[in-house]
This record gives sequence, C-alpha cells and structure tokens, in this order.
Amino acid sequence: VQPGVIRDELNGYLEPYGLFFGPNTSTSNRCMIGGMVGNNSSGTTSIRYGVTRDKVLEIDAILSDGSKAVFKALSQEDINNKKNTVTAEGKIYHETIELLKPKEVQAGIVSEFPDPQIHRRNTGYAIDEIINSNVFNNSQNNLNLCKLLTGSEGTLAISTAIKLALDDLPPSYNAMVAFHFNSIENCLKLVEPVMQHHLYACEMMDDTILNLTKHNKTQEQNRFFIEGNPKAILMCELRDDSESVLQKQIDKLLVASAETHLSYAYAVLKGDNVNKAVELRKAGLGLLGNMVGDKKAVACIEDTAVALNDLPNYISEFTNLMKSYGQEAVYYAHAGAGELHLRPILNLKDSKDVDLFREITTEVSKLIKKYKGSMSGEHGDGIVRGAFIPDLIGPENYRILKKIKSIFDPHNIFNPGKIVDAYPMDKNLRYQPDKPAIEIKTILDFSESKGILREAEKCNGSGDCRKLPESGGVMCPSYHATRNEKDTTRARANALREFLTTSEQDNRFNHAELKSVFDLCLSCKACASECPSSVDVASLKSEFQHQYQQANGIALRTKLFAFNNTINKYAGKVPRVSNFVFTNKIISTILKKISGIATQRHLPIISIKSLDKIIQDAVNVKVKKEYIKQVYFFNDEFTNYLDTSIGVDALELLEALNYKVIHVKHKESGRALISKGLLEHAKNVANFNIKTFKDLITENTPLIGIEPSAILTFRDEYLKLADDKESAKTIAKYTFLIEEFIQNEIKAGNISSKQFHRLERTIKFHGHCYQKALSNQKSSFDILNLPENYNVSIITSGCCGMAGSFGYEKEHYAVSMQIGEQLLFPKIRNTSSEVIIAANGTSCRHQIKDGTQKEALHPVTILKQALI
Ligand SMILES: Cc1cc2nc3c(=O)[nH]c(=O)nc-3n(C[C@H](O)[C@H](O)[C@H](O)COP(=O)(O)OP(=O)(O)OC[C@H]3O[C@@H](n4cnc5c(N)ncnc54)[C@H](O)[C@@H]3O)c2cc1C
Ligand code: SF4
Ligand code: SF4
Repeated sequence: VQPGVIRDELNGYLEPYGLFFGPNTSTSNRCMIGGMVGNNSSGTTSIRYGVTRDKVLEIDAILSDGSKAVFKALSQEDINNKKNTVTAEGKIYHETIELLKPKEVQAGIVSEFPDPQIHRRNTGYAIDEIINSNVFNNSQNNLNLCKLLTGSEGTLAISTAIKLALDDLPPSYNAMVAFHFNSIENCLKLVEPVMQHHLYACEMMDDTILNLTKHNKTQEQNRFFIEGNPKAILMCELRDDSESVLQKQIDKLLVASAETHLSYAYAVLKGDNVNKAVELRKAGLGLLGNMVGDKKAVACIEDTAVALNDLPNYISEFTNLMKSYGQEAVYYAHAGAGELHLRPILNLKDSKDVDLFREITTEVSKLIKKYKGSMSGEHGDGIVRGAFIPDLIGPENYRILKKIKSIFDPHNIFNPGKIVDAYPMDKNLRYQPDKPAIEIKTILDFSESKGILREAEKCNGSGDCRKLPESGGVMCPSYHATRNEKDTTRARANALREFLTTSEQDNRFNHAELKSVFDLCLSCKACASECPSSVDVASLKSEFQHQYQQANGIALRTKLFAFNNTINKYAGKVPRVSNFVFTNKIISTILKKISGIATQRHLPIISIKSLDKIIQDAVNVKVKKEYIKQVYFFNDEFTNYLDTSIGVDALELLEALNYKVIHVKHKESGRALISKGLLEHAKNVANFNIKTFKDLITENTPLIGIEPSAILTFRDEYLKLADDKESAKTIAKYTFLIEEFIQNEIKAGNISSKQFHRLERTIKFHGHCYQKALSNQKSSFDILNLPENYNVSIITSGCCGMAGSFGYEKEHYAVSMQIGEQLLFPKIRNTSSEVIIAANGTSCRHQIKDGTQKEALHPVTILKQALI
C-alpha cells in the first residue's frame, strides 16, 4: 500500500477477501499506514495481533541521497551481495551490521533496552529487534531492516510503498464483558486472571474519563451499559465463529471473575453494543484534552508500558509520584498490554508549570527505567520523549542510535531533532511562558471558554476532524472534499490561535491567511458536537468574518446573502415579476454572474403569498375551543417567503392534532447575518426576538419552528449574542424543532398512531447538520414512524454540501457538489421512485434537487398528508 492509505480504508477494502490489518489505533479512521509505520502503532488489538512492526514485510524507501531501496528480509547471501555494492543502500547494510556485530554491543543492548516481554515498546531505533537475526547469531530470522525503519519516525528514510502481513478477519461473533469496580486496585488485580482467557482486547477506563464522557454529546449515548458510578471498568472482548462457543467463553470468564470477588457488576455486550462501547473507549484520550481554560491535560508521559506482572506495582509507585506533584492520576489503560495513558494537568503558559512538566516527565522516565519499561508504548518518542532516550537506554546504546542515524542520513535531513539529538522537551513550546494574557473583544460571547483565544486553544490535535465520511458523523465536510489539512477543523482553530497570539496588527484578525483557512468552512457546526474538545469553528468563523470585515469592508455578495430576508420581502411584493426574473434563463444568468452565484444553481422561487400574510388572513376564520396546549410558532425567513407551503402544512398539522398555534410578530432568525459575520445586525435581531418572546415562552407554551438552521439559533448563537442572557437561556430551554415537540407529545400520550392512516410508505430521511449537532435525528425518525405502516430509515450521510449560501457561491460550487456526492447523492439515486425522501432543511432539499433531481419533503408535510 502507499503510505497515505488510511487504516480503516484499507480494512474496508480487505474485508471482502476475509483479511484485515491487525493494529487498531483509536485514530484508525484517520491515521495513515505511513504514520503507523513511522510510530510503530499498536492499539487495542495488540494483545492478539501484535504491533505494526510485526506486520511490515517490505518497505520501498527513498534514502537520504535520493536513491531508492527496497528493505525486506534477506538471506545471508543476499546481505553479502548488498554489503558489497557501493551505494547508499550497500553502506547501510555494511555499516549497520559492523556496528551491531560485537558481542559486548549486543549484550549492552539486551541489558539496557526495555523488557522484550513488553510488546509495545518504542524507545529509539529497534536495534534490540535487529540483533535477533541471522547475521548476528544463530537465529532463524532473516535480517529485515524494516524493523528498524518501523518506529523511526521518518528520521531514517521516506517510505513510498509498504508490504504488510495481513491476518484473517477475526471470528464473526464477538462480545464484550465490561466489569465494574469500586477501586482501581481491584480492577488492576483482575487483569492477569482475565488475560488467561484468550481475549481480543483488554482495556481499562477510570471514573475521571467516564465522567468526561457524560458531557460529550456524542459519547453520552455510548454510556448505556454503565451501572452506577464505577471507579473503573475493564472491557474484555471475546470472539468466536460459533455463538454457542462464544457464550461458553463468556460464562467461563464470568465464573473466573466471580471467584475473585473483585468486580461489583458487569455488563455483557453483543453486536452493535460492542461497537458503541469501543467508541466510548476510543474517545477517551481525546476527551482528556477537553478542558476549559489554561490548564490542560498535557502529553508527555501518556503511553508508558511495563510488563504485565509489573503493572500493579508500577501503577502504585506511579500514583504516589503523581500525588507528590499534586497531580490526580487518571487511569486509562491498554491494561492487557501493560500500557497506561496518563496526562498531568498543567498550564504551560506558566513557567512554574513548565518546570513541573519537565520534572514529572524526568521522574517518570526514572521509574520506567527501574521497571525496564518503555517510555513510549505506541505514540513514538516524538519531540517530548526524545530527550530522555540517552538516560533510558544508557550512553553507549545512545551512541549506537546516533551512529545508525548518521549511516542512514549523514546530512541530518530527515525529521531532525527526533529520536537522536532531540531538543530539550520544554523548548519550542506552543506558548511563551509568563507572557501577559491577551484580551480580545468580540461580539459573540465566548465567556464559557474564557474568551475567543481559549476557544481556539481548545484544539488538542487529536485529528478526529480528519476522519473519513464512511466512519460516521459529519465533521469535517470540507476536509472530506479536499483531503487537505488546511481544510480541517484543527487547521482553522490553530491558525486563528497563532494569529491571535502573535499578530502585530491592531486588528489581530486582519490576515489574508485566516480568510483562506476559513474559506471552505461550511459553518455546519459538526465540530461543536463531534470534536472531543467541542471546538466551535462555526462561531469562530462568524467572529473572524465580522472582525475581518471591520478592516476590509463587506462585499456585495455577502450583503445580498446576509440581507436575503429584506430582499425576499421586497421580491415578495411582486412575486410573479420576481419569479420571472429568477427563472428566466438569460436574466437569471446575468444576475448570478454579477453577484458571484454559481450559474448551475437555481434561484429560489418566491411564494405568491407569504406565510405572514396567510396567517393574517386566517386570523378570524376558526378558533378551536378545546386544545391540548398552546404553542408559539416561529415563522422563519425561509418558511415565510420560500417554503410557505411547508409552513401551512405545519400549522394545519398542529391544529389537527389539537394544538393552538399562536403567531406573534418577530424578526427573522438572523441565521444568514450570523453566517456572513454581520454580527452587529445579528445582535440586534437576537435582542429583538428575545425581548419579544421573553414573557411568552414557558414549559407549557413552547416556541417551535420547522427550519433547523433558524429555530436552533435560539438554542445556540442567541446565547452568545443576546444581552439578556437569562431570558435567552430560558427561551432556549423551551425552544424546539417541530419534530422534537411532536416526539415529546407522543411520549406524553397526547399524539398517537390512531390519528394517521394505515397506508404503507417507505421513507428515507436526511437530517440537517444543525439538527445532528444541536439536537438529534431520532425525533424526525420517531415522528415519521407515527403512521403504523411507515417504514423509515435514516440516510447515514454527512453534510449535504449546500450549507446556506455556501453552495450558491461560484467558487464553492464544485466543493459543495463533491460533498453531496460523497454519501448523500449516491444513496438517494440508488433509491427507487416509490420511496419518499424526507429532509427538514431548506438548503438540503435544494441541494438534493440540484444533485439528484429528486424532490425531498419536510417531515411535517409527510405527516400532514398521513392525517386521517
Ligand atoms: C487522540 C489520539 C489517540 C491515539 N491513539 C493511539 C492508539 O490507540 N494506538 C496507537 O498506536 N497510537 C495512537 N495514537 C498515536 C498516533 O495517532 C498513531 O500512532 C497513528 O498511527 C499515527 O498515524 P498518522 O497518520 O497520524 O501519522 P503522523 O503523525 O502523520 O506520522 C507519524 C510518524 O510517521 C512519520 N511518517 C509518516 N509518513 C511517513 C513516510 N511516508 N515515510 C516515513 N515516515 C513517515 C512521521 O514523520 C511521524 O514521525 C493516538 C494519537 C492521538 C492524537
Ligand atoms: S479540532 Fe480536530 S484536532 Fe482539534 S481537538 Fe477537535 S477534532 Fe481534534
Ligand atoms: S463548522 Fe463544519 S466545516 Fe466548519 S470546521 Fe466545523 S465541521 Fe468543519
């Protein structure tokens, strides 16, 4: 494979062949094989399938002089031939073998390197592996320098193709037993006994991490199997091709554990529930980095590994060490592999904590040395642990590593400062310690994150925003389209952080580079819920645009989109004329060209009568005396002028279901103003709407709306915009998407299937990004399932690609369609014509029409049509 192939993508390709690549990192949906080889990655499955180094058969490499070489297992004869060539490759074989040949050198390596029982060990170059081959002793192993290149962090050569050993797919039935404990000690004591049970994974999480998952929108749903408040859980995975044999294995494991009396409860998970639990575990390390403010969980001692029988003693000493530094130890471990994930909580903006950062790492490195452990089990030595290698393996072995580096890379051009001649760990830090804090005034209120700079600083680099579209979730659609780091969530957060920290301009936002990095952000909000640190780039982008426009003015097209409500209002006064202009091929093309709109797009059609007008005309028609509840209807700007018929459907549906719908005069949601960075206007709108609804909206008189991007503004941006925060919070609490409202009423027994016909229909639903990020698609799924014979499924798609005005803009059109093509369009095209496509977002329906020529309906229209 090429080094840029993503691990999960490779396994997706291999699955039909019954094969897979075993090492399984938490980052498997984004990490690349080249990087896995560079780090000698490992992950949950290492106890059964080994680490990356065990799997690399051949590497096609480019050497430091630009020549090419293929590294693989060689017989003695092949080696002699190689050694005798006058090439960079020949020199590598000759000098490496001569270097490692002396028996005292090999003895020194064996005595100082980490215990070979620890299969996760990355401490410098793997010369301890190399000496166990035919050229050095009577070993049956042919010398394979791939073992040296694996884990060398790109410091020896660049790999261009990698041949991997694959394993048969794991047995098809799996189960997970999640043991619950009242103490960490009890959990650790159970590791050795359960490891006798042919486990496929043995992972531990403590209550610190488990509690973090409570506050993460995505992960809170994966906690379903946790009973009470365990101090720790141990997740043991079993597999077999026979369900009955698997059950026997589970029973045996449970009996063995019961005999120890160590755990107070357990959950046996099967099928998809195992995947959910695995997701919860995978999220752990990312969540550890999710801390508000300057104190962060910093990476330095995060993957130390020791032999399994040393684990309890090591952890006990480790805990005492952490206590002596006032640090709370967090236990999050690949327990079956003896590896512990821990990050001390430090403020690296403060020089005292920088000292602690170095002291803690130094002390832990001594402890590791004592247990003959590995300072880096799977994350590589990198820029933090590199400096400790000389102490960990001794000066003589370190001299050998330096020599290896100079044999491969005499001019030090490959990834300098890593593994050998590493910089001190506290140099080149992200922050300059003790620099006075920078205060940046913003229109949006970022006080929850202690300011906009700290909002940007929340990014801990976990890279979840680089995951593939196929791995579920929405984040990050622009990266999915371009596969360019510049278009990731983390690029945006980090570029903003860097400019806000170092810019010398009065207006720190006024940088063309920032404009470029935010350009393809669709403001879809996926990051706010899916990023483990909840970095809200949509809000950062809005504020950036506002500040940038302060210095550079507002473009005409920006104004056209931002004030679309006003434009539609005037267009709505002469709807037939407007629609002629919008639909006439020649005139509309000229209009689009002048305003920078993609000519391939259709302009929206203005309703002949706005919903406001329809409501006004109907005021005295009929008022039902009996009703279940009265609700306030938010007639958003899209529904009012463009999707008026959906608004009518919503009102008729609610009335037919016995709700009294009240409409008061209010302003538009401000969605377009927010997404175009016209934040002063948006603030006025938010203040007006909050004032309008503050004395009206209560638990019994909620506010409901049908367009997710508009109504959810009350639950999101208004909290950052409105001056009257308390009222904004109360209104947010009682503001619902119409689907959420109906779902709640079904639960309360106020709406039932009996009110709908029994005809058969098949429906596929695509949810709006804001619904996915700020609410849940389940509400749409539930209400569409109300009619008894409706068969509903959710299309597992990410963002549709339209995202308000984004897809209309001519320079964004191609990316917009590319995003749609990734999952949504093919899934809709492959749907037969009888299937109803449902979508609750106005942009999504428009994009579906442009991309697939299919008409999608809002769920309320479908339900209204199903009323008896
Ligand atoms: C939140 C989080 C969780 C993690 N969980 C795990 C885990 O469970 N298990 C685990 O083992 N690791 C884990 N890691 C560490 C890391 O993500 C993985 O080891 C991963 O495999 C690295 O892949 P990458 O594509 O991100 O590589 P990168 O970080 O891009 O590269 C890794 C190294 O390989 C080198 N490299 C990349 N390509 C080449 C090439 N073509 N030629 C030569 N050198 C190259 C780079 O220079 C670098 O030194 C985790 C990291 C994070 C941030
Ligand atoms: S922005 Fe990306 S890299 Fe940063 S914390 Fe969020 S998911 Fe991780
Ligand atoms: S808002 Fe959407 S497009 Fe923008 S960074 Fe976040 S996930 Fe990516």
